[in-house]
Amino acid sequence: MSVMKGSFVIALDQGTTSSRAVLVDQNGSICDIAQKEFTQYFPQPGWVEHDPEEIYNSQRWAFEEILRKNNLQESEIKAIGITNQRETTIVWERSTGKVISNAIVWQDRRTAKICDALTADGFGDYVRDNTGLVIDAYFSGTKIQWMLENVPGAREKANRGELLFGTVDTWLIWKLTEGRVHATDYSNASRTMLFNIRKLDWDETLLKAMNIPRSMLPEVRNSSGHFGELVHKSHTIPITGVAGDQQAALFGNACFKTGTSKNTYGTGCFMLMNTGDKVIQSKSGLVSTIAWGIENKVSYALEGSVFIAGAAIQWLRDGLHLIKSAGETFECAERSYQRNPENPVYVVPAFAGLGAPYWDMYARGAIFGLTRDTSSDDIARATLESMAYQTRDIAEAMVNDSGIDMQKLRVDGGACANNFLMAFQADILGVPVERPKVLESTALGAASLAGLAVGMWSMEDLSSHKEIERTFQPSLNKSQRNNLYHNWQRAVKRSMRWIEDSQ
Ligand code: ADP
Repeated sequence: MSVMKGSFVIALDQGTTSSRAVLVDQNGSICDIAQKEFTQYFPQPGWVEHDPEEIYNSQRWAFEEILRKNNLQESEIKAIGITNQRETTIVWERSTGKVISNAIVWQDRRTAKICDALTADGFGDYVRDNTGLVIDAYFSGTKIQWMLENVPGAREKANRGELLFGTVDTWLIWKLTEGRVHATDYSNASRTMLFNIRKLDWDETLLKAMNIPRSMLPEVRNSSGHFGELVHKSHTIPITGVAGDQQAALFGNACFKTGTSKNTYGTGCFMLMNTGDKVIQSKSGLVSTIAWGIENKVSYALEGSVFIAGAAIQWLRDGLHLIKSAGETFECAERSYQRNPENPVYVVPAFAGLGAPYWDMYARGAIFGLTRDTSSDDIARATLESMAYQTRDIAEAMVNDSGIDMQKLRVDGGACANNFLMAFQADILGVPVERPKVLESTALGAASLAGLAVGMWSMEDLSSHKEIERTFQPSLNKSQRNNLYHNWQRAVKRSMRWIEDSQ
């Protein structure tokens, strides 16, 4: 593909540990990346904070760096897309732009008690029916409530209409447009636990329950559309694409049709399935969320997450010292396979309990099937395989909830580089696994949304941009597959309710 000078989109990919700027050309190819890490603050056990100014400065630095490194003129940048760590909460003063405290990060558990109170007050069903979520400290709503109750003077200022709230996208838009635009997109709004995903408006009942004035909240816009302009020297560059990271990855994987899904293999796994214009009520502990809004039409998604995926590989490396690098698990698994194609060893990495569809916070990690000849290779292989089994757990829940069969799975994230894992994933799901050429699907999703709004490409172009690097076809027959999965389920059962005070 030839890179034509003069037409680029820059995606600002604001993650939990770093801010990146990704340069995308008009063919949808990634040309360059600039990245800067920023500080994580842990002021108390269970608390996680970021400095919003540092988030902005690192993001701005990455943006300027990509222009500088590539010798780009502002006029060559047709649009900016933003994708961001979701749920992280920032509150600032409308008139000065000064934040009232550090950002409370999505991982932060300080509002667990506020959530318990909401549950005790009977809001569980209401939250599920209207926001698609489960009541949890993860989402933004209770984080705002905490700030208003605990930052001196915040409540009075909020009541006088002097404070603004934003998730990270909103904060970046506000900073980049020098305070001219206070807006978010549907996908980010749907992670606040304050947004009614059916009525497509902030939910009065929940605002009242969490005592949050509506005047603080951003305007909710299409994910592909106009969010104002960044003025850079004498040029203006429009911001035209915004989506939360997992939704951006769904878009970047071109999962535009109902029933298409992607799985991201990172520290944890995040699987999202496009459910079209339907909000699906999960019976299995998945959440419903807005995938994106385009031309005032909203698409929904079902989302399931696995807490420990690549993190179990890190444990092999840093905890057990079985391997020196994550990539080595490929050779371990191959050696184990040569010795015994069918692995009798099962690792259940329930280090922090089990999420969907088991939901047991008293489960703990376990290894089953050990014999005198079990090797470290078998254990490494079983750890790798646990990612695929957990993915099947989520996939089954999605199929059950949606009634939509999974035809194939698109993948991204660091661990999908592992060919053994991908082949085993196809085997255990019984559907082809497609690994795209470009694994930066989050940034690509934001860039795609932005370019779409300025006419750089159409949805059809985006589907055809999507180049598959390799498709892994299932090779096991149904009974072999189900046999292995049955053993996995037996292993999971035995690891459940391990902590004794669960009785
Ligand atoms: P995150 O965005 O959550 O930080 P990444 O997408 O960068 O995660 O993926 C990194 C994770 O993937 C790490 O947990 C690492 O252990 C795992 N990982 C990376 N490469 C491999 C590999 N070749 N095989 C297995 N796991 C891997």
